[in-house]
Amino acid sequence: MNDKFDILPLSAWTKAGDKPLVIAGPCSAEGEEQALETVTQIVKNCGDKVHMLRAGIWKPRTRPNSFEGVGEIGLPWVKKAALAVGLPIAIEVANPEHVEAALKAGIDVLWIGARTTVSPFNVQAIADALKGVDIPVLIKNPVNPDLELWVGAVERINAAGIKKLAIVHRGFSSYEKSIYRNPPMWEIPIELRRRFPQIPIIVDPSHMGGTRDLIYILAQQGMDMGFDGLMIESHINPDKAWSDAKQQVTPERLAEILNSIIVRQPEVNKDGFQTLHDLRARVDRIDAYIIELLCERMGLSEEIGEFKKNEHLAVHQAERWSQIVKRALEKGKNGGLTEEFILKLFQQVHNESIYHQTKVMEKK
Ligand code: PEP
Ligand code: MN
Repeated sequence: MNDKFDILPLSAWTKAGDKPLVIAGPCSAEGEEQALETVTQIVKNCGDKVHMLRAGIWKPRTRPNSFEGVGEIGLPWVKKAALAVGLPIAIEVANPEHVEAALKAGIDVLWIGARTTVSPFNVQAIADALKGVDIPVLIKNPVNPDLELWVGAVERINAAGIKKLAIVHRGFSSYEKSIYRNPPMWEIPIELRRRFPQIPIIVDPSHMGGTRDLIYILAQQGMDMGFDGLMIESHINPDKAWSDAKQQVTPERLAEILNSIIVRQPEVNKDGFQTLHDLRARVDRIDAYIIELLCERMGLSEEIGEFKKNEHLAVHQAERWSQIVKRALEKGKNGGLTEEFILKLFQQVHNESIYHQTKVMEKK
């Protein structure tokens, strides 16, 4: 396990206590009135279920000529709004100038957006600007599904001395058509949690879903996975929002969502959980068995490789492979497994098998 990060738990620097941290606010600050009215309505409807506010001041947009944020002029608007309701406010920064302006305006929390996390130069420049400053920083995942790039950004910011640090999972860009704007690819934050359990993970269902209908279900999925908080975009008049109109919810709807979310227990240490314990022990035995069987299977692949080498046969025999997949699909479907899972699993098994066979064949 890696323990090189020096990161404080969320409870040390937020008002969330032992509950998930909830961050809410508009995608963008649009005016002094809109900022104040939005946060006032959020607090009125959600009460102490919301612990932190958000509002974009500089908006990195994919295409030019769309609304790129109000800029520096908006800093006092959002700060004033936050002070009025007594909550800290987070804004996005993308370069050292943004950091400097935000610090001067007394902004409480900074976040690094997905389009900035992809660039190590930009992240490092922000980290350098933060040296010696005590301010919480949230790091969104890079737009592309690259775990190392995300971890690298955390390393850079943490190395600058920022210990009040969390990451925000907002889904990943995909060229494939999907119901999501940014598919969640939950396996990536799950792997990150496995490797670095001390990094708090906040889920942003707004940018994942891209439409307001998906916010609740994605937020619940994030909680089901035991993550530590939610960042949800909320606007007093979502349809008229200057950015991300389709995915923003009214403060009333935000309250409904937060009231419906069920928070799961992260740890199983109560009496009466013996059944779960037994079930997990069985799962562990099966997992061990799967690995043993795969090792045995790859041993056979090497023997096959040896044979093909002597007989000058090609490694990949297309017909044989279609048969294997067909049989697995039939058997798996009968057992309730999805076609997608079987295909992915067998693709991986096949890749590994080819690797073992070619290893044998390339040996002099
Ligand atoms: C945002 O939070 O409004 C935003 C631009 O998000 P992301 O960086 O995740 O795209
Ligand atoms: Mn947005």
